[in-house]
Amino acid sequence: MKASFAAAKAALSHMEIDESPVSVRSKSRDFFWYSPVLKARLDHVVGDFVVAPRSEAEVIEVLRVCHAHEVPVTVRGAGTGNYGQAMPLAGGCILHMKNMVAVKEIHPGRVVVEPGCLLRDLDAATKAHSGQELRMFSSTWATATIGGFIAGGSGGVGSCTWGALRDLGNIIRLRVVTAEAEPRILEFRGEELARVSHAYGTNGIITEIEMPLAPAYDWVDLFVAFEDFQAAAAYADGLGDEPGILIKLATVFEAPVAFDYFQRVKPHVNAGSHLVGLMVAPHAMDGFMTYTGRAGGAPRIIWRSDRPDWTKEPGPVFEYGWNHTTLRALKVDPTITYLQVRYGHPDHLAKVMAIREKFSPEVLQHLEVMKESGKTMMAGLSLVKFTTEARLDEIVRIHEDMGCMVFNPHRYTLEEGGRQTVDDRQLRFKQEADPKGILNPGKMIAWDDPAWGYDRMYAYQGLQAPVRAAE
Ligand SMILES: Cc1cc2nc3c(=O)[nH]c(=O)nc-3n(C[C@H](O)[C@H](O)[C@H](O)COP(=O)(O)OP(=O)(O)OC[C@H]3O[C@@H](n4cnc5c(N)ncnc54)[C@H](O)[C@@H]3O)c2cc1C
Repeated sequence: MKASFAAAKAALSHMEIDESPVSVRSKSRDFFWYSPVLKARLDHVVGDFVVAPRSEAEVIEVLRVCHAHEVPVTVRGAGTGNYGQAMPLAGGCILHMKNMVAVKEIHPGRVVVEPGCLLRDLDAATKAHSGQELRMFSSTWATATIGGFIAGGSGGVGSCTWGALRDLGNIIRLRVVTAEAEPRILEFRGEELARVSHAYGTNGIITEIEMPLAPAYDWVDLFVAFEDFQAAAAYADGLGDEPGILIKLATVFEAPVAFDYFQRVKPHVNAGSHLVGLMVAPHAMDGFMTYTGRAGGAPRIIWRSDRPDWTKEPGPVFEYGWNHTTLRALKVDPTITYLQVRYGHPDHLAKVMAIREKFSPEVLQHLEVMKESGKTMMAGLSLVKFTTEARLDEIVRIHEDMGCMVFNPHRYTLEEGGRQTVDDRQLRFKQEADPKGILNPGKMIAWDDPAWGYDRMYAYQGLQAPVRAAE
């Protein structure tokens, strides 16, 4: 360990510190291995020690000490991110938020909570208190933290009604601590939220969160099977357009995804079955049944959680959607990986069909209905049969040539995983709040290399050398 790292660790020895190699290694990793590209580059990454603060005051102390000793600080929620966001590329201190889990206040339509609180626990508290729940959550609801969702996530279960996490109104307030000689506490609302939401903890540590809530329901989970893919996609899309039918999830799986990768669904479908996974509010079921009765393509409702009739029940339908689909596929076929594709309104269905025509079955469609500016569109988390990095990059290029933006999950930087350009608000705030650049180094190209040309995959100069892990 570098002398400066050891000095910082010593100065923090009164806090909960973990430095056992096995544990530090596991807390240095997230679900980056979904990507063969990231796996090849980041598998050796490991931090030097883990600190788990119990309060905002301890977060401030960690940042003051690490600033003084120039020790990189990578904050960790539950480490379920997919792009190496919580991985300490330059080693150093891992700031684990597992002790900051309090649900502080619950009011009609909003909740105040600490960042380390699990999404599941937050929902349990608000439901018990006043029959309310989060508008949206990542499908890692059972394991992920609210802080990690805001800083690293983008949307999820509920986005079919409420849009993306960063859409106005989906986050109310964030309390942030800076990484300066004397760290400051800042409160962000409105426009300012974008400085740190989905910034991977590169420019400030979130210590308190205020989120909007929605009425909680005993959602009815459903699987609906189709023999025609276009009909399945149109059915899910149309449901997104039905203003009176309240849904929390509408997911489309191209055949044979359900048959090949969904073990508990397999006995109820065939290899040609396209599947739609849904969460419908119980009071909306009549409207939903009427909608289904009118739909084309002979929809078959094969599972209803309010009328369970399977020997082995499937569990929550949302744990088949979003990146759980990729996880289920990877468990069966380790050569599978995925892409994140935006199919924007109004020609999203036509684009999906064109892409499918072009790539299936090398690329299989997995679509999530979302709202964008109030309009129904689709987010694709397409399953890709991985062969080579060159072929993967080619598939990405062809998607973009066909008008479908790709948020590339095979990159660890904010810019390459986003719109291929820096978010100026985030860069400017980093320049102000993290002048030495100790927060999650290597994840913001514009900080390290403002002139970068995006003509190839960026490689962070400060990335640990692989050999170090073997020592
Ligand atoms: C099976 C599977 C399904 C998934 N489904 C979804 C999905 O539906 N939607 C979605 O958006 N994502 C999804 N993800 C990605 C991920 O699970 C979510 O984004 C999740 O909400 C992240 O929470 P976490 O606590 O694990 O964060 P972590 O992975 O620990 O952190 C994520 C990022 O946030 C930063 N961070 C964490 N806490 C703070 C803080 N207090 N202050 C500042 N920065 C912080 C970290 O440094 C990191 O950059 C999925 C991943 C898997 C493996």
